[in-house]
Amino acid sequence: MPTHPSLMRANVLVEPGVIEMRTMPIPDPEPGGVVVKVATALTCGTDLKAFLRGHPKFPMPTLFGHEFAGVIAKVGRDVTRFKEGDRVMSTHSAPCGTCYYCRRGQENLCDTIMSTMVLGAYAEYIRIPARIVRQNMYPKPEHVPYREAALMEPLACVVHGLEHVSVREDDTVVILGNGAIALLHVAALKTRGVATIIVVGRRAYRQKIAQAVGASHTLEFEAESLPAHIRDLTDGRGADLVVECTGQPHIWELSVQLARRGGTVVLFGGCQRGTTVTFDTERIHYDEITIRSPFHMTPRAVRQARQMLLERRVDWGHLITADYPLDRLGEALDQLQRGDCIKFAIVP
Ligand SMILES: [Zn+2]
Ligand SMILES: [Zn+2]
Repeated sequence: MPTHPSLMRANVLVEPGVIEMRTMPIPDPEPGGVVVKVATALTCGTDLKAFLRGHPKFPMPTLFGHEFAGVIAKVGRDVTRFKEGDRVMSTHSAPCGTCYYCRRGQENLCDTIMSTMVLGAYAEYIRIPARIVRQNMYPKPEHVPYREAALMEPLACVVHGLEHVSVREDDTVVILGNGAIALLHVAALKTRGVATIIVVGRRAYRQKIAQAVGASHTLEFEAESLPAHIRDLTDGRGADLVVECTGQPHIWELSVQLARRGGTVVLFGGCQRGTTVTFDTERIHYDEITIRSPFHMTPRAVRQARQMLLERRVDWGHLITADYPLDRLGEALDQLQRGDCIKFAIVP
């Protein structure tokens, strides 16, 4: 194969449920941008949602896949930090740096961060624009496998979510859900020295992985009895920190019941548009519950996430259940929907 073949294979989501493998020209980088040869892309709940039901952010037909790591194949004009052949880890979005939110350090809310995000990691090559290269692309050290490096984006979202939460090693944390995002929370909290992490979820396989990445207890999800169960485990107080990772309104409501007085609830899972929740005002006020609902990430969080992946204090590889070749993405997504798995690596 020549060093620069001109065509690549890429998965295109044509309509919900229909993926086509298409051949198309390998893109060229914009000034300041690069083209990355994808070494590993990971499946994510967002991709699954788009595959099953469509997604407002993914007008079809569309390239998709957004968690990846790889090797620089082409560099655009004025790129100085990277050269062809460099191994890199990257996110798929970056803030503008100049809007109201960016100037206040809330780059996750940047006016254009979502409209400029890049999709297309389920392909042989992906084009990364200058603003991402400048802020959220980093060298991937040799000792970090590509599949773990590709976790940087979702882990950065988790790091951002915990950024303003004070966590102590002697805290009791309850994580609601045991999908990839929930387990990234477990691993991140474990890395911060938290000993008591209770994961509430279904499916034995996921609970086993929860333990492998740092959960001290795993509980079967049982909404009725859960508040009493958590009180039993905390001398009647409730949890210091509750992290909701399912994105369901009734679980948001349940989360608030599980926190201790003065505790914090992180509502991480985004719910369907148009849904509402009800909280007991007495609980929120007299028990002084702090509620946060973090969205996306900042470049600060990306740097921290990368550091955690480089340190490898937990075995991040547990979160990747199996590998699939590029042309079997549909099977990987079908299996992801069935649920006895965490994430799949799509390897071109
Ligand atoms: Zn993702
Ligand atoms: Zn901005």
